[in-house]
Amino acid sequence: MPIPMAVCELLSVGTELILGDILNTNTRFLSQALAALGIAVQRHGTVGDNPERLAEDLRAALVRSRIVILTGGLGPTADDITKEVVCAVLGIPLVLDARQMAAIERFFRVRGAPMGETNRKQALVPEGCTVLYNDNGTAPGCWIPWKGNVVVLLPGPPREMEPMFREKVVPLLRPFSSGVIVSHQLRTVGLGESLMAERAGELLDGENPTVAPYAKDGESYLRITAAAPDETQAEALCAPVIGQLAERLRGYVYGIDQLLEEAAVKALRQAGKTVALAESCTGGGISTLLTEVPGASEVFGWGVVSYANECKQALLGVREETLRLWGAVSEPCAKEMAEGIRAASGADFGLAVTGIAGPGSSNTDKSAGLIWLAIAGQNGVRVRQLSTGRNDRRYNRTIAAKQALALLLEELQKKATPSNGGSV
Ligand code: ATP
Repeated sequence: MPIPMAVCELLSVGTELILGDILNTNTRFLSQALAALGIAVQRHGTVGDNPERLAEDLRAALVRSRIVILTGGLGPTADDITKEVVCAVLGIPLVLDARQMAAIERFFRVRGAPMGETNRKQALVPEGCTVLYNDNGTAPGCWIPWKGNVVVLLPGPPREMEPMFREKVVPLLRPFSSGVIVSHQLRTVGLGESLMAERAGELLDGENPTVAPYAKDGESYLRITAAAPDETQAEALCAPVIGQLAERLRGYVYGIDQLLEEAAVKALRQAGKTVALAESCTGGGISTLLTEVPGASEVFGWGVVSYANECKQALLGVREETLRLWGAVSEPCAKEMAEGIRAASGADFGLAVTGIAGPGSSNTDKSAGLIWLAIAGQNGVRVRQLSTGRNDRRYNRTIAAKQALALLLEELQKKATPSNGGSV
């Protein structure tokens, strides 16, 4: 049974958001953080630095939502209008906050920079509010109780807004929370979104937890979300459903709440094995993914980006005959690349990728999206062909890198392979 929660609305202020110059990451952060607190975000709004439109949106939000959180427009310049507009709408005067004034003066003194008259504006706060002092900048946030509603003002820069929210706003919001929301991702690879959803079957219809399918860059995952009075109860609701889903998707699940590269590094560490890479069309993309993971150096030490045939021959020992007869994007070439990097590095596994990233006109038998992967280990070489069918360079390179890691994981986990070929 869903739990009723305090309704909240987010309002982002900034012309740069409206123009698409910056991505609204504050809304994403706040939505996730509020959901985890058991506070229902029901609307997102964005408005430029325009007093009339901001006032109009705020009035509407106050009618609909008990909690309205605004970000941005708290700076010292003339286009930073949030505090003034909010005070006008609520009918509250702005008053000088002595502690904030002292903090601003100290901020400039420490930096030896002159303080402009406009900076004093940042010491003005709505009368009667709880000031949220900013440990990472000069604009204070404000918690303003108003006729049963709460209006919260937060600075725009994420590096100021996020810690202020976590440290100062969350404790004030707790009384509005009627429970918690816990969410997990069951991540799969090698199975499209629709097949994954088919296998999940009626579990997708559940109300608590809800189960929702998503797909991104060749990976498909299910988000399992439960609401309950506390975390333990929410976890207890999720656990059996995650168990059932993992069973139905056996062979394709590589982890819960972890990325493919994290799963690969973890599996290598657990097995006490190392991998070396020979990358052509991914141009170092697999290395980049692996080295994002802390501790990757324990399992990965060698990588060759072998774009040119000469490089494939000189560093990986790919035979001239192979390239002449089959070309660089071929099963024999991928095999020799994987064997070559394994031999040169002494790693337990040699992982290779060669493919056509595109865009380009379709060639007779080799078109964009054709990718060969190979993994060489002590028991020989295994090869997989992918055909994404897409003339999209970024997509094809991402898929190639992800599927290469999936192949490595399969080898490590000795999973049943979905198929030895096929389309993505
Ligand atoms: P400042 O004191 O820096 O002026 P502010 O509260 O006035 O802070 P804005 O001027 O609206 O905030 O925005 C400052 C910067 O913060 C923006 O240029 C942008 O880089 C970042 N920012 C603002 N709003 C958002 C948002 N919703 N998501 C991500 N970044 C944002």
